[in-house]
Amino acid sequence: MRLNRLVHVYSIPMRARFRGITRRTGLLFEGPAGWGEFCPFEEYDDAESAAWLACALEAAHEGWPEPVRTRIPVNCTVPVVSPERAHEIVARSGCSTAKVKVAESTLAEDCARLEAVRDALGPRGFVRVDANMMWDVDTAVTAIRAMDKAAGGLQYAEQPCRTLDELAAVRRKAGVPIAADESIRKAEDPVKVAVSGAADIAVIKVAPLGGVRKALEVAEACGLPCVVSSALETSVGMAAGVALAAALPELEYACGLATLQLLDGDVTSDSLVPVDGYLPVLTKAPVPDRAEEFESGDRAWVERYERVLARVSR
Ligand SMILES: [Mg+2]
Repeated sequence: MRLNRLVHVYSIPMRARFRGITRRTGLLFEGPAGWGEFCPFEEYDDAESAAWLACALEAAHEGWPEPVRTRIPVNCTVPVVSPERAHEIVARSGCSTAKVKVAESTLAEDCARLEAVRDALGPRGFVRVDANMMWDVDTAVTAIRAMDKAAGGLQYAEQPCRTLDELAAVRRKAGVPIAADESIRKAEDPVKVAVSGAADIAVIKVAPLGGVRKALEVAEACGLPCVVSSALETSVGMAAGVALAAALPELEYACGLATLQLLDGDVTSDSLVPVDGYLPVLTKAPVPDRAEEFESGDRAWVERYERVLARVSR
């Protein structure tokens, strides 16, 4: 399967540095069922990128399973910014759940940001934090307790440490529900990872898990309530995450699919931007009618696509 004529390689600046990157890059292609987005992070090798391509191929060639709901509640995302900026992001979002990136600044700074987030959300909103495996068990327990206080109650803490054993230990001691993210998507076989003793919630991401159908299998196998999160895709890839959230039998929590605002632009004029805290469910990805504005012409992405495709179709 060669790339057909309709291909875009994009490079979009991030509004604020996020997960260490300042630009988001990827490749969009069209198949008989619609558009797909292939956007593994630059440091991922071809083996890890294969699932991302499977997800894009599903969107372009197969389409998604039937949705069981018409709209998806989403959280806003607060990067490592000042408390004033955090307040502004949450207040403007229209979302009643906020996810705050922590562990990249001092505990005092994280707590000040969390206080500002709670202030903007009001007492009925939900605050969750994501530490991206940055802590050891003791640091995690201390930090989560302090953050729980600063935030006026945390909904959950996502992936405080690296291993499932560490998550289980933190879960026993910190008094806050724990969500597993990297533990699932970085596992050798995400369907077989036994997260139930180590976490209360599973974060599932459609691209690293290889598409909507594969992610539904993972969700069923882990037996926990799921939160669908993005991998900082444009609206084209985001639509697959929305399709996953739409097809899950149960959806208890707001999903992390409102991350388009972290990018300074989008490849389509039909952007998946939440209204009053919800995203609409689409039957296929939006057409990237604005992709030319962000075209980078980087041949390395086409070569990456072709190498990974050779792996996927082997
Ligand atoms: Mg995470």
